Amino acid sequence: MERPHVAIFPFSAAMGHFLPLAEFVKRLCNFHGFSITLIITKWMWTSQQPAVLERLASSALDIRFAEIPHITLDEDERDMKFGARISKFMLKAMPHIEDVLQSLRSSSPISAFIIDPFCTELLAVTAKLKIPTYLFVPASAALVCFMLNLPKFVSEMKVSFKDVDFEVEVPGFPPIPPRDLPSSLQDRSDSEFEWFVNHASRFKEALGILINTFAEFEEEAIKALSTPATPAIYPIGPLLLTESDTPDQSSCLNWLDEQPPSSVLFVSFGSFGVISREQITDLAIGLEASGHRFLWVVRGYKSGDSSTLETDISELLPEGFENRTRDRGLVLLNWAPQVPVLSHPSTGGFLSHCGWNSTLESACNGVPMITWPLGAEQGMNKAILVKQIQVAVDLKMDDKRFVKREEVERAVRELMEGEEGRKAMKKMKELKGKAKIAMMEGGSTIKATAEASADLSASTLNVN
Ligand code: UDP
Repeated sequence: MERPHVAIFPFSAAMGHFLPLAEFVKRLCNFHGFSITLIITKWMWTSQQPAVLERLASSALDIRFAEIPHITLDEDERDMKFGARISKFMLKAMPHIEDVLQSLRSSSPISAFIIDPFCTELLAVTAKLKIPTYLFVPASAALVCFMLNLPKFVSEMKVSFKDVDFEVEVPGFPPIPPRDLPSSLQDRSDSEFEWFVNHASRFKEALGILINTFAEFEEEAIKALSTPATPAIYPIGPLLLTESDTPDQSSCLNWLDEQPPSSVLFVSFGSFGVISREQITDLAIGLEASGHRFLWVVRGYKSGDSSTLETDISELLPEGFENRTRDRGLVLLNWAPQVPVLSHPSTGGFLSHCGWNSTLESACNGVPMITWPLGAEQGMNKAILVKQIQVAVDLKMDDKRFVKREEVERAVRELMEGEEGRKAMKKMKELKGKAKIAMMEGGSTIKATAEASADLSASTLNVN
């Protein structure tokens, strides 16, 4: 029998979107016999992407690539904000993606098409071509609940979220202060506001939504999504990285080997999060004052230049900091092998920007967190972690989103030695066990993936 053929247009401008999707592709091929075509564009190229594509291409899996012609944005379009730029790109890319889909299916029927939530314009193309289309959401099920409710909110509200004084309530989500909503949504006059809402309003047109979460992690959100009015939901996560491009992992893992069990706080703000130099100083002094061990991935801009990353660690850290904390702290510049660090027995806490991949990686390794969201939907992830499942200590920010040194010290002590931290650790350990079970035969993720595979291939008989 012919293998079911699925085409995918990944959003590779953000590795946090692309990497979990690449893991899902491997599962579809490995365990469910799929043939996959990735439609790619160099326009969204990131430095890590070639290595990921190379690994997929050199695997024995049935994965092919179709590249669309290069897209050029006009001069005035290049300076637009991220969302507006992506929209301009999509407008120009759509006819090419349509051509690729047409030509692909002339040689091998396409049973389904998978797209990223930032590319929902393609739903119009696939409706025309009658190709069943699914969203792959590299974020929480709670965010999907929010997106499905967002158009109604916006139509009923006349002011910006940043100006309201009530907490936003969505089924499946704890009440959330408006300042913790995605940054693009804060201000109605922001060009990204409409971009975000437009994508949200198209979610319901998808035949199904594949979500990088697992049922036991987000019970309430998944229950809220299980209504006939919602597209089919597949909690097919956690999709964690099985390969890493970190050049040298050994020095920091050797250092961790020397530390007592569960004694080290890992501090990291994701693959590109940057905090100000002033904030780095307060974080450093707070960490030092806490007296706890830490492994900190520091990333900051050069002094007076907010676009070039500093390459000299000592330029970023307060005078004498490294010497004073040498016996209990290690600072790395820009990057650490996060998954091996989180799974190391010496790691006992994670101060994180709450990106969704970091959140899942922490949960699957049973590491409780301190939440320091920087933007995107990270404030909503914080609400899940702190209010809903209580596996994290919240870090208080002032109105300018600055975290003072005393607050860093308090939160670190609370997580690493306080009662709240003890409870968070216990719950995270339980979650780690649940994640393992979800991934075992008969577990929720394995079942959801089997359902998704059946649905992604079902239409082979009906289309083309
Ligand atoms: N990551 C890593 N080392 C680092 C920083 C990040 O390996 O020093 C990985 C991390 O394990 C996660 C991803 O990069 O898989 C970050 O994704 P997330 O969704 O947490 O945040 P984003 O970078 O998209 O804001």
